[in-house]
Amino acid sequence: MKRIILFGAPGAGKGTQAKALEKKYGYKQISTGDLVRTEVKAQTDLGNALKAKIEKGELASDEDILRMLKKRLEKEDIRDAYILDGFPRTLPQANALATVDVDEEIVVYLKVGSEDTVVKRILSRLTCHDCGAVYSAGENSPTPGTTCTQCGGIAAARSDDNETVARKRLRVYRAETKPVIQQYRQMGQLREINGAPSVDDVFDALQAVIGVEK
Ligand code: ADP
Repeated sequence: MKRIILFGAPGAGKGTQAKALEKKYGYKQISTGDLVRTEVKAQTDLGNALKAKIEKGELASDEDILRMLKKRLEKEDIRDAYILDGFPRTLPQANALATVDVDEEIVVYLKVGSEDTVVKRILSRLTCHDCGAVYSAGENSPTPGTTCTQCGGIAAARSDDNETVARKRLRVYRAETKPVIQQYRQMGQLREINGAPSVDDVFDALQAVIGVEK
């Protein structure tokens, strides 16, 4: 089994690239953000507690995230390969992941130099509240509240995609997740690519570092 870990700041494009890899190669995207949002939608006690945290830009507890991820990893569909998008975000999460064996692990860091670039992307993107498809601002972007072309759901801004919360998420990312990236770098496992160019150009670079046929 192959595991790909995608690192990058909020708005760096992890979800977009993970979805593109899933579509082309069948690797399964596992977004812990999506797992959290599914729980929030179900309005369970845990979901309601998570909602309060994500709307403040705080992380969910390692314990909650690890429990949700463990359950997801039990499904058969990840047998060949899976992509982790948004996990691990803390050192304890990385240590827990290290106990889950795989045959091959590829760790990629989508680097976007400027914080203003990612904030701009976050503020202009729409996310389908049903299937999680992400629409970036551009010529063909839908207007908020319109129909998702993937599933017919509603595409709108995520409740945590506003400037104050986005900046807070970036601070949390620097404090909690940068040390995790640094740990993979020290182990010689980190492959960095520039996340600033167009989606297609980043996807080309990603396929090259993963070593798959284009
Ligand atoms: P982002 O655009 O910030 O990368 P995600 O969709 O990955 O957003 O995650 C949304 C929110 O879900 C995060 O701000 C955080 O509160 C929570 N979350 C997602 N993944 C994790 C994780 N691995 N550990 C803790 N909290 C997480």
